[in-house]
Amino acid sequence: MVSRRLVLGAAATTLTAGAAGAIGYRAWRDREPAAPPAQDSQGRLLWRNWSGIEHAYPAQRLAPASEDELAALLRTAVAPVRPVGAGHSFTGLATTDGALVSFDAMTGLAGHDADARRATVWSGTRLSDLGPALAEIDQEMPNLPDINKQSLAGALATGTHGTGRLSPALHGGVASFRIALADGEIKTCSPRENAELYHAALVGLGAFGLVTQIELQNQALTRVLKRSWVADLEQTLESWPELQRAHRNIEFYAVPFTDMAVIISCDPTDRPVLPRGPDEDTSGLMLLKGLRDWLGLAPQARRAAAGLAFGGAEPTEAVDEAWKMLSNERPVRFNEMEYHVPIEAQVPALREVIAAIEKHRSDVFFPIEARTVQQDEAWLSPFYRRDSGSIAVHTYYKDDHEFLYELVEPILRRYDGRPHWGKLHSLRAADFASLYPRFAEAAALRREVDPNGLFMNAHLRKVFAGDET
Ligand SMILES: Cc1cc2nc3c(=O)[nH]c(=O)nc-3n(C[C@H](O)[C@H](O)[C@H](O)COP(=O)(O)OP(=O)(O)OC[C@H]3O[C@@H](n4cnc5c(N)ncnc54)[C@H](O)[C@@H]3O)c2cc1C
Repeated sequence: MVSRRLVLGAAATTLTAGAAGAIGYRAWRDREPAAPPAQDSQGRLLWRNWSGIEHAYPAQRLAPASEDELAALLRTAVAPVRPVGAGHSFTGLATTDGALVSFDAMTGLAGHDADARRATVWSGTRLSDLGPALAEIDQEMPNLPDINKQSLAGALATGTHGTGRLSPALHGGVASFRIALADGEIKTCSPRENAELYHAALVGLGAFGLVTQIELQNQALTRVLKRSWVADLEQTLESWPELQRAHRNIEFYAVPFTDMAVIISCDPTDRPVLPRGPDEDTSGLMLLKGLRDWLGLAPQARRAAAGLAFGGAEPTEAVDEAWKMLSNERPVRFNEMEYHVPIEAQVPALREVIAAIEKHRSDVFFPIEARTVQQDEAWLSPFYRRDSGSIAVHTYYKDDHEFLYELVEPILRRYDGRPHWGKLHSLRAADFASLYPRFAEAAALRREVDPNGLFMNAHLRKVFAGDET
């Protein structure tokens, strides 16, 4: 996100502020959240999601190595049966005290069509493994999310996306998929075959069945120039539509309490390869935490210190194939709420979110992420027939995240926002029914293919309530 020079400058500033004996009101709160017991009273082992806010004690942990094995185990698995990928969702989508089904033994390329630039991929494949595997056959996915640790099926199931006005979310590139239904039957779904199930289960939350294989419509490898630069926040907000038109992939992070933004773009180029340098986002982020910790109660001083630290930062550039450029390392744990609003509402909604945070939550230091996503046709896609602007608010995993529901979510809902399925939200079936024109049909089809509610856990019952199962 920021260059080494910037980080060093900012470190000096923070040290100075600290040495001046500024307000250390946060330090005492910097404690690890309590961890749940490693096993429950019946000796079942703990499962936790990436951020640590969700946990479960599954009775069974299954990892089928083939479709046949999967179909057989579905006949005896303990309900609720929940598929899991990398556990990077923030919501309770995968939690179960029944069977947790991992696809870690169903990974890699199952085949490809060089002429059509399509690849068939086992569903448990991590995006980080998929990039190099596709590169070997001169293919890449058209876009990627901010990290690449997710499994392919897990990413698709929640509508995972990257950024770009003309770039759909990852599921926009799915030509077909195979899914094991509750009765063990495996169906192939595409816009021509089992088309309703394709549209309903493409962003399916693991609620329709267990996806085994995905056929991706890819593209030829592209070399891109990735640029990151610091800009004035107000100017960024004003020029956002223009910036979107000028770049294939562009996003920005609005840095609260600084009046600054960090902009990141990726565009095709024929410049020679210039490899990415070491990750500097993490040190930049920890620096923002330092400013929060020491100057959180003195907003003017915090703003001034941030200005000194980040103001003169030089842009960073790197050139390489897109699959190496689009995703990043995010080692600092956080919790996150992300909503997708109609694209024209993104800037006004973001302005309100920033104002509310700066007025009420001086503890927030994570930058607020703004991206764009092209509309698509999946019934439960947050981008269903709507070009969208995403707004993502992150909180450090040691900090309170309840304010996301109280302060941030009402703003995003007023702008007709649809929540990311894998990120924090408090919505229920009635809300989804009003946000998604095809929600009722999707819920009905879900009931039809899973009449006994084999895949329903507590979280999904809230999503599909009204679903009698
Ligand atoms: C650090 C971080 C960065 C992130 N960045 C982005 C980003 O840039 N853009 C974005 O949109 N999101 C982002 N996310 C959210 C993340 O992409 C989603 O939550 C995604 O679903 C996680 O994938 P996973 O493999 O961990 O799936 P899990 O969280 O394990 O599962 C997600 C869903 O997929 C289902 N599932 C898993 N496997 C299968 C299967 N074989 N068949 C059917 N259903 C299945 C699960 O049941 C569950 O409902 C980020 C999350 C983190 C923690």
